[in-house]
Amino acid sequence: MRYLILSDIHGNLEALNSVLAHASAQEYDNALVLGDLVGYGADPNAVVDAIRALDPISIIRGNHDKVAARLEGAEAFNIAARKAISWTTDTLTAENLEYLAALEEGPRLVDDRIEICHGAPSDEDEYLFEVRDAVRALRDAKRPICFFGHTHVQIVYQLSNDGELDVSGSDASSARRLSLLDSHKYLINPGSIGQPRDGDPRAAYGLLDSDVQELKLFRVSYPVDRAQAKIRQAGLPEVLASRLAVGR
Ligand code: ZN
Repeated sequence: MRYLILSDIHGNLEALNSVLAHASAQEYDNALVLGDLVGYGADPNAVVDAIRALDPISIIRGNHDKVAARLEGAEAFNIAARKAISWTTDTLTAENLEYLAALEEGPRLVDDRIEICHGAPSDEDEYLFEVRDAVRALRDAKRPICFFGHTHVQIVYQLSNDGELDVSGSDASSARRLSLLDSHKYLINPGSIGQPRDGDPRAAYGLLDSDVQELKLFRVSYPVDRAQAKIRQAGLPEVLASRLAVGR
């Protein structure tokens, strides 16, 4: 099975469209979505429509989806995020709000090798930035390959069965290829499509071919200026536009 892995789209239609166009040339069978379809960006409805049209085989909610759907308050958000999420709730159609409200909480088991979560396997809202937290998450995961999002940083943690950890972050390349080993456990963040925060403004996503155990991580350029113009036009906080140009 060839899985397309998408995370943290955040209402950025330009980034999502560029990723989907790039991915269709790679070919895949099914999509996995790790949450945060909305929040920050100016196209929440078009992004939710596009994800619904993809019909992912497995999808979970992110913290912004939860707050947009009014399942939780925005107390944990900073001011810009709070402004954006209340604009998002007001802008979403009733049907799309219902879709977000119905998204399941992670983790979700995809098959006998793969699971997905938004933050961490034990807590959908936890940020896995530290190595010790990643190691704990690797042990918590019920499957040898666990995809996560939430940090907006493309990264791969691999743990061998004798306890050796290897960490590889994103580099300047547009495609990275990794052969996955049966003797290792993996914790993989494909990166954020709509608001990358690892210093690379290009949209990030992943593909996993589970038959040959090959992972590919991509970075795709998209019309950042168009996404920024829409954010400004919607009257959303300026920082949400400016940060897209620097990937922070
Ligand atoms: Zn996010």
